Amino acid sequence: MAFASTGRSVAVRTIRCGTLFDGTGAPPLRDAVVVITDGRITSVEPAAGGAMAPDTLDLRDRFVMPGLIDCHSHASLVPGQGDQLGQLCRGPVPQALAATRNLRRDLAAGTTTMRLMGEEHFVDVELRDAIDAGVIPGPRLLVAGRGLAADNGHGRALTSYDGVDEVRRGARENLRRGANHVKIFVTGGVSSPGPMPTGSAYTREEIRAAVEEADRVGAYAAAHAHGGPGLQLAVSEGVRTIEHGALSTDEDIALMIERRVWLICTFAIFMHPTGIEQGDGHRSAIMDKVRQARRVVAESFPRHLGSGVRFACGTDSMHGLMPFELQTLVRFGVSPADALLAGTRWGAEACRIDDQVGTIQPGKRADVIAVDGDPLKDMAALERVTLVMKDGVVYDGAHGRPAGGAREDQR
Ligand SMILES: [Zn+2]
Repeated sequence: MAFASTGRSVAVRTIRCGTLFDGTGAPPLRDAVVVITDGRITSVEPAAGGAMAPDTLDLRDRFVMPGLIDCHSHASLVPGQGDQLGQLCRGPVPQALAATRNLRRDLAAGTTTMRLMGEEHFVDVELRDAIDAGVIPGPRLLVAGRGLAADNGHGRALTSYDGVDEVRRGARENLRRGANHVKIFVTGGVSSPGPMPTGSAYTREEIRAAVEEADRVGAYAAAHAHGGPGLQLAVSEGVRTIEHGALSTDEDIALMIERRVWLICTFAIFMHPTGIEQGDGHRSAIMDKVRQARRVVAESFPRHLGSGVRFACGTDSMHGLMPFELQTLVRFGVSPADALLAGTRWGAEACRIDDQVGTIQPGKRADVIAVDGDPLKDMAALERVTLVMKDGVVYDGAHGRPAGGAREDQR
């Protein structure tokens, strides 16, 4: 998948790295030099001696790794403010303004690519294009347009799509407006009241229609599904990624392994105190579901994550909290190196952009972050991202602005 060019002509830039975790699975390299030309990585080598070329970015006291890939978010939402569907139903201007703030926060925390999983008014398409054009700072976005939801299903905001023909029309409209993938809400969710249904809001034929429409144009479908019959229906009809999967059974996971479907873990939204707990936690019907999800996930995910299922992470609108996602993976028994891969290369593979990003290798886009500390020893270090580079441009961590302003673009 190609991203729109930023049109910047950035010349050669050299980074000297204290420790380089390149995301390929190779052991970290001490004292490495990364060369970037016109926003792309052109070489990665061990440093030859102590001297540094002029204008080298000196990160000799930093842990350098690929930019983080958040595989599931919503730019305009803040779960801690409560009533997420109400937030989605606001007009396009409040949505865009909230998103501008949220995306700056994501970028500053090290997320250089983010996959959005449903917004109203096609603000996600506008945001993606505005970021690519340099109008606002933010991660590179992959967008869904409107999430396809059944009239009585979870995730229904301003519109619903019912019946095979409406699902096709919804998918086609999203794709015409510029969506990168199709999002379909299959099962119930944690953030709305009622039982945690694992049945499907959609029929097999409706899900198949969404998958077909995406596949036909070289995109793919992603399904919101927590587990059970709904999840299995979505997997058997060919979705590429299962979003959340909090109530997945061993049988669900086995089917995902067999069909090579990705599990996109989203822990922060129901586990972090500033997530649903802060937003809608005062409603006992919702807080009970949050507690249930926490219990089930703590019991089953250590097993699921070690099962061989392919997984990556998303914050689900918990802006800036990718480090929490990776810390949770480690708490559930994933090795720190695999947790970093889940936040980088595996995310790129899940989103089918691993030819562009996810590793620090020649040919890839220069999406690089520097961390104060060693996340392989203590994943909390990932909360201390001190430098963010996207497409070879360094962003000011506090403001999400290109560091040095226009001068940076001319280098
Ligand atoms: Zn979501």
